[in-house]
Amino acid sequence: MSLLDHFSAELDELKQQGNFRQFTQNVQHGRFITIQNKTMLNLASNDYLGLAADINLRQEFLDSFPIERSYFSSSSSRLLTGNFEEYEQLENSLSQAFSGRAALLFNSGYHMNIGILPAVADSKTLILADKLVHASMIDGIRLSGAQYVRYRHNDLQHLEQLLQKYHEDDKIERIIVVTESIFSMDGDETDLAALVQLKKRFAKTMLYVDEAHSIGVRGQQGLGCAEQYNVIQEIDFLVGTLGKALAAVGGYIICDPIIKDYLINKMRPLIFSTAQPPIVIAWADFIFQKVLASQSQREHLKNISQYLQQAVVQKGYDSPSTSHIIPVIVGESQAAIDKAKQVQKSGFYAMPVRPPTVPKNSSRLRISLTSMVQQHELEELVSFL
Ligand SMILES: *Cc1c(COP(=O)(O)O)cnc(C)c1O
Repeated sequence: MSLLDHFSAELDELKQQGNFRQFTQNVQHGRFITIQNKTMLNLASNDYLGLAADINLRQEFLDSFPIERSYFSSSSSRLLTGNFEEYEQLENSLSQAFSGRAALLFNSGYHMNIGILPAVADSKTLILADKLVHASMIDGIRLSGAQYVRYRHNDLQHLEQLLQKYHEDDKIERIIVVTESIFSMDGDETDLAALVQLKKRFAKTMLYVDEAHSIGVRGQQGLGCAEQYNVIQEIDFLVGTLGKALAAVGGYIICDPIIKDYLINKMRPLIFSTAQPPIVIAWADFIFQKVLASQSQREHLKNISQYLQQAVVQKGYDSPSTSHIIPVIVGESQAAIDKAKQVQKSGFYAMPVRPPTVPKNSSRLRISLTSMVQQHELEELVSFL
């Protein structure tokens, strides 16, 4: 009997269920991805504006960035000696874009969500979270020790009932409503304007909105659904990642300066982890300026997304999407795997998503579009669905 037997038995069980995960190596070039010598159109990318794929941008950045400032490590938390000027530059850029609100950076979106919620939520806080929020928020909620209740996905009526029920409870001092704006598996979105109206009726309520899939993509300047629906000022914790459309790595919050100071004092992943490499943050700032001006990419992405949403429904599939993330829901786990194999064979790289990531009987092919994809390529894809 080896101590490893337990672990290998668990792995065998995953293999039997067809749920064993492993890394696959790939090479990416523009909108294409090559896996095991097969080159396909990449329909599984988070590089929504094509900025990470753009070789000329990388060249432009490296040519403009002095080697003396090219630090590949900050060697410390920002509270010790790690606070290089690059962080404050990017925070200033964000703050300026987001109507003068305060901005604070984190090492990743995951760090952000597992760090902010435990810092701000205590035993007198109730968290009300959408049933489908990202794992990082679930982990943050669990770490927080706050009471929490999930409301049915995107069901603001259910949320309202819960607010009515708990708002009168004197033991609860604060209620934090946690949601995403665009959801990563269904590609549907929260009605942020209605959410803000709801919050205004319940004085103890604060809003926590993760814009991971909408930053760069939505709004005139790409500031997300909060810009699109004109509610930047109303969301107490407006968070997002630098790792998707922003073509870098990291997370950010837009908030009141009091919340920023509070997080600097209380948020453990911020205090106890070496800050990002300054060169990555300089790159993110460089990219952020490009994002602000990427209207034509956003417009193109919107057009091809609408085309594919309609085509998928016309083909008879369920698809709740109103965004560039478009699931083709087929039901059975095996059906999703088969569908993925079939489209991959035809030259389109999209991945199957199955339980437990999504509810039973809603296995799907998940397509995520970027502005690099062309309409005629999607027309060909649709013919294979
Ligand atoms: C991707 C994602 C994250 C994690 O962000 P990283 O920067 O990749 O750690 C958090 N929340 C949501 C909704 C995401 O989709």
